[in-house]
Amino acid sequence: MNPPATLWTPPPVASVAVRGLRERAPVARLFFVGRNYHAHAVEMGRPVDKSAELPFYFTKSPSTLVESGATVPYPPRTQNYHYEMELVVVVGKPGFRVAEADAHELIYGYACGLDMTRRDLQLVARDKGRPWDLGKDIENGSVISEIVPMPGVVVERGEIALEVDGQTRQRSDIDKLIWNIRELIADLSTYYHLQPGDLIYTGTPEGVGPVQPGQRLEGRVEGIGRVALQIGAAE
Ligand code: MN
Repeated sequence: MNPPATLWTPPPVASVAVRGLRERAPVARLFFVGRNYHAHAVEMGRPVDKSAELPFYFTKSPSTLVESGATVPYPPRTQNYHYEMELVVVVGKPGFRVAEADAHELIYGYACGLDMTRRDLQLVARDKGRPWDLGKDIENGSVISEIVPMPGVVVERGEIALEVDGQTRQRSDIDKLIWNIRELIADLSTYYHLQPGDLIYTGTPEGVGPVQPGQRLEGRVEGIGRVALQIGAAE
């Protein structure tokens, strides 16, 4: 069947390359976990007490995705554009109210991601009780590596690190996640019917900071891969 006639060209379906496959993975939604490493929560001035708190999330549009290796403009309306290196879980099966013990069944694989952030705008929004969209939902602001198929595998440890122009700025381990991957899938699936193509950015460790036009970001997660981004001139 032909697609319906449309007034203008529809936006493309966002998709991500998959290691070893010709087919790309179409993307449904982008979920991001807020403060999920203790040392990062502390550097943001908002320590987490897991015994008294639940994880929280924000979303970005799939149209903000950009592939690893791209050069992107320094975005408008910020003086403090920050990197956040993150492990990304790729959902490959649907699930709603999933038990932690079954959470692995939803996992298709993993990627390395950067949750780019207009920190100045995010902090104004946070402190005024406003939505985070202007600080987080940024064109070219969701960087993603190729997806590594690891169906049913729960990643529990491995170094996560980020360099700016070859200098290490973030270095931690996946075993320091406050809410681990089983807990995140179980909790997020109480709010949403998770579906294939949902990406879950699992949070960033300490060491977040600004990046300038001309600088290069290179991140890695042990056992998964690498992600890179080149910051171009301001628009
Ligand atoms: Mn983040």
